[in-house]
Amino acid sequence: MPRRGIITIDGPAGSGKSTVGRLLAQRLGYLYMDTGAMYRALAWKALHMGIALEDSEALTRLAEVSRITLSGDPDHVRVAIDGRDVTEAIRSPEISRAASLIATIEGVRRAIVAAQREMGRDGGVVLEGRDTGTVVFPDADVKFFLDARPEVRARRRLEQERAQGRDVSFEETLRETLERDHRDQERSASPLRRAEEAIYLDSSEMSIEQVVEYMLEIIRQRLSEETSSRSVHS
Ligand code: C5P
Repeated sequence: MPRRGIITIDGPAGSGKSTVGRLLAQRLGYLYMDTGAMYRALAWKALHMGIALEDSEALTRLAEVSRITLSGDPDHVRVAIDGRDVTEAIRSPEISRAASLIATIEGVRRAIVAAQREMGRDGGVVLEGRDTGTVVFPDADVKFFLDARPEVRARRRLEQERAQGRDVSFEETLRETLERDHRDQERSASPLRRAEEAIYLDSSEMSIEQVVEYMLEIIRQRLSEETSSRSVHS
């Protein structure tokens, strides 16, 4: 039996990480960790408390004292902060923007990354985000970098927004997507980048199912190789 590994998927907004991550976790029987939801939950609390999004000190303290939890199976993840369910509340464009702003703060990242390491330390987990393979679990068993052309990513975001009843234009969504990409890539604290060993996949012309099947193949291969090489050496 291959052991239960740590799988990371990083990439820009709208590249399909959440959908793919959820499906992978389901198929493997792993925990699914949406790391972006944790930055979103903290951003929600900061806005709720009226803390300025530039106040690094107050936000760092807030991250240190808040308890963010992800629960439920991959298809029905519930996000809570200090016991308050914010699953739906954190999906607005306002929170997307606020999350990407507070995610530039070193102290905020330190506290959130510590919680993520704790949650994933026993393995059997699929993490998706911006720094999961570079910072959270640099020794992960299999790392992916999922990408897609900006127009494709904005189109996917737009469909999600509209499905949630929000009336936004394609141009506005594209602009926001590019703005967030820029901030995620240019920040000094754990910028979004592809780990050297991460497997790069452009999902622009692929179906979700194709991406998932491709990844599963690689994961199974890697984990069984590791298991057999460990038994040879032990
Ligand atoms: O993935 P999602 O769009 O929900 O993430 C919201 C924001 O949180 C991102 O724009 C990014 O700035 C930040 N984030 C991060 N590191 C992660 C996950 C998300 O900085 N691992």
